[in-house]
Amino acid sequence: MPDPGDVTDDLGGDELADRASPPSGEWLAALGALLRDVPGVACPVCASPDLRHVFVGEAGTRIGFVTIWSEHCRRGFWFSRARAPAGAPFCSFADAERQGLPPSFVVQ
Ligand SMILES: [Zn+2]
Repeated sequence: MPDPGDVTDDLGGDELADRASPPSGEWLAALGALLRDVPGVACPVCASPDLRHVFVGEAGTRIGFVTIWSEHCRRGFWFSRARAPAGAPFCSFADAERQGLPPSFVVQ
């Protein structure tokens, strides 16, 4: 799996900074760690390591949004205008709707 590098670049860089409202540094840091395959990344809310993430976007460009959530406490966050890096979990908008992704969670 290629190193995704700086997650803020993967998520759209300056464009993300302008759009996230408000940016959640802890969720973004956890997402970056997941993208780097860091083991045992803890949920910023409950500290459980059961974090999941998925990019949902247009099939051709892989641009859309990314969500990260805790399977344990069902809290999470999302960032819009993100491009799925190679190898990251990705669903097209249509597939995500069919598969019920992302699952419902409380945005925190
Ligand atoms: Zn949690």
